[in-house]
Amino acid sequence: MANRALPGLTVEELTRELGSRTRAIETVKWLFAQWPLPERLPDALPTVSHRAWRPFIAKHGLVTPRIVERSVSEDGTTKYALELSGTSVETVRIPSKTRSTVCISSQAGCTRTCAFCATKELGFIRQLKAEEMVAQYLVARAEAPRHQSARNVVFMGMGEPFDNLDEVLRAVELLTQAPAPMLRAESVTVSTSGVLPGLRRFLAESKAALALSLNATTDEVREQVMPHNKTWPIAALLGELREDARRRRRPRDTFIEYVLFDGLNDSDEDADRLVRLLDGVPSRINLIPYNPYPGTSLKTPPEARVVRFYERVVKQGALCLVRWPRGREIAAACGQLVLAKEALGFQPL
Ligand code: SAH
Repeated sequence: MANRALPGLTVEELTRELGSRTRAIETVKWLFAQWPLPERLPDALPTVSHRAWRPFIAKHGLVTPRIVERSVSEDGTTKYALELSGTSVETVRIPSKTRSTVCISSQAGCTRTCAFCATKELGFIRQLKAEEMVAQYLVARAEAPRHQSARNVVFMGMGEPFDNLDEVLRAVELLTQAPAPMLRAESVTVSTSGVLPGLRRFLAESKAALALSLNATTDEVREQVMPHNKTWPIAALLGELREDARRRRRPRDTFIEYVLFDGLNDSDEDADRLVRLLDGVPSRINLIPYNPYPGTSLKTPPEARVVRFYERVVKQGALCLVRWPRGREIAAACGQLVLAKEALGFQPL
C-alpha cells in the first residue's frame, strides 16, 4: 500500500494515512470532483489539514494518464489510447440514451491467447494497478456529456481480469465505494475468458456482475479459439456457476458472451446446445457478431445467420440480446486500437 497513487487507496486506507475518516472522505470527494484529473496532487486541500496532507503527498502521487489518441465513431463511441507510465492501454466510452458505459483494461496486453482477439498480438506487457483502472474510468468520465454520465463500467478492454484479480477486486471496491463515485455493484461487470480459480474467488468475494466469454458450445471448438479451455473446460466453468446459483438465496445472473464466427459456432445445433448448456445457470446471453481484424481467417456470419441463431435461442426461453457492433470503424474491439497504432509505428513514451 505504501506507494500506491491516490486513486488506488480505499477510504479505510486513507483514514489510516491521513489520521481521520473525515479527511479521507474529503480527499475522495476532491478526487472525484476533478474534471479532468490534474497533473499532480495539489500542495494543499482546503478541506484537509496541512499537517496531514503534507506527509501524504510526500508518499503518494496521482496516476496521470495521457490521452495519446481519441477516436470518435458516428454513434458517439469514443476510444482512447492512453499512456500510463510508459505503457499503452485502451479505454472505450460507449454512450446510450441516458448513460455511458466505460470499458476499461485490466492488463496491458493479455496473459491469454484467444484466436479472435487482437490483444493477443501484443503479448503480455504488464499487470495494471487498481489505480490505473480507476484512472481510465476518470479520464472517460470527464468527457461524458452531462446527460450521459458514466455510471457503468465493464472490464472488457485489454487483458484477462482474473489473471490480475487482486487489483481488479480492489478497483471494483474503489469504483463502488462511498462517498464517490459510488457506482452500483450491479453496474460494474467483470468479464472473464474462463479462468476457473479466479472465477471461484470472484463469486465468493465480489458483488460485481460477472460476464463469461463462452464463445463455443463444445470443448473441441472452444479449444480452437480459446486455448486455455484445455485447462478449464466448459463443464467445469458452467458447473461452478450452477453451484454458485444453488448456494445463493437470490442467484445473480451471469452474462454469457458468445462471439459468433461464420461456420464455426453459429449453427442451429450450436444454438440448441447453448440453451441446454445453460440449464440451471441464471444467465443472459449476449450474442456478439465477430468484429474481424486483419490477419485472422475467422469470419463474421451473415446478418441473417445471426438473427436466426438469436431467434432459435429465444424461442427456447433463453434471455438473449444481439450486441450489434458499435464503433466498428474505429476498431473498438479488444486491443484493436493499440494494435493499429503499433502497426503505424506508434511507440509509447
Ligand atoms: N479477457 C476478458 C475480457 C476482455 S475481452 C474476456 O475474455 O472476457 C471482452 C469481450 O470481447 C469478450 O467477450 C471477448 O470474447 C470479446 N471479443 C474479443 N475480441 C473480439 C472480436 N474481435 N470481436 C468480437 N468480440 C470480441
